[in-house]
Amino acid sequence: MADQAFVTLATNDSYARGAMVLGKSLKNHKTSKKLVVLIGPHVSDQSRAVLHNIYDEVRLVDVLDSGDAAHLAMMKRPDLGVTFTKLHCWTLTHYSKCVFMDADTLVVSNIDELFDREELSAAPDPGWPDCFNSGVFVFCPSNETYGKLLQYCTQHGSFDGGDQGVLNGFFSDWATADITKHLPFIYNMSSIAIYTYLPAFKQYGANAKVVHFLGQMKPWSYTYNPSQRRLKGDMQGSLDPSFLLEWWALYSGEVVPLLMGDYGDQPFYSGCEEDVAESTHVQPIMSSAERKQKWEQGQADYMGIDSFDNIQKKLDVFLK
Ligand code: UDP
Ligand code: MN
Repeated sequence: MADQAFVTLATNDSYARGAMVLGKSLKNHKTSKKLVVLIGPHVSDQSRAVLHNIYDEVRLVDVLDSGDAAHLAMMKRPDLGVTFTKLHCWTLTHYSKCVFMDADTLVVSNIDELFDREELSAAPDPGWPDCFNSGVFVFCPSNETYGKLLQYCTQHGSFDGGDQGVLNGFFSDWATADITKHLPFIYNMSSIAIYTYLPAFKQYGANAKVVHFLGQMKPWSYTYNPSQRRLKGDMQGSLDPSFLLEWWALYSGEVVPLLMGDYGDQPFYSGCEEDVAESTHVQPIMSSAERKQKWEQGQADYMGIDSFDNIQKKLDVFLK
């Protein structure tokens, strides 16, 4: 439908890459909705060109800061101030209904059914489930609501210094009023769930429709070797790398070629590299029975013996 859209936000080139991958993932899963990206003034011309290639609408917005720097510092996430810019999405009144998605989300299945939901629908936050996570939410653009949101900000601020605090304060009956406004967790499956509740992840993780790489380490914080299909970097906080690898496969396969086109002869850092030094991880000695038992208890050694590389090696041997 022409009056419904997915909306995301990128205030710099790193998040812009996230937005590119998100847009590609929505298109690859054949969304029938429009795609809109809100950008800040610091996004480079090259990134804008690629965003124009993927999105129907690229809208420049002035960054609104919450002015609550003390709160933000307390949360050790000073970078979240810019997420206030998210509120601009309510001004997209040429659409009747939208789904906002953080630029650090990846769609792994068609999610157009979200447009059957009403404002404000969102999934529970894994850290405080009576709050919704503001990484994915259904909303109806309205200048009236936008005005009220801004008024709410000036009167009450944000209890966490970011947009999630404001939105939860404003839509404060979300937890209790209407269960249909609670999106299933599979529409905003945060990577945090993987290490806080691994058995549930093993049981339900395959049903995920949207993966959210929330927290400090974003997919673009790693480097990737496309020929070996492996990641380099501190893997803490994302014990199961399969979704990260999916992000990187899409980025290196479909986004980097677009970026290369727009950068021309200018060098740019894609995050992809060809030679990753061989892992020197010392593998613990464990019997196969012990190992099986650990697996079944959800205690796979993802960093070592059960790493993706080792599983892949085993599969390769098996398939040969
Ligand atoms: N964002 C942005 N620039 C920034 C920080 C955040 O554009 O410097 C946008 C981006 O869409 C991002 C969202 O705000 O996905 C929320 O921030 P983030 O995802 O980093 O927060 P988290 O989900 O980790 O709490
Ligand atoms: Mn996020």
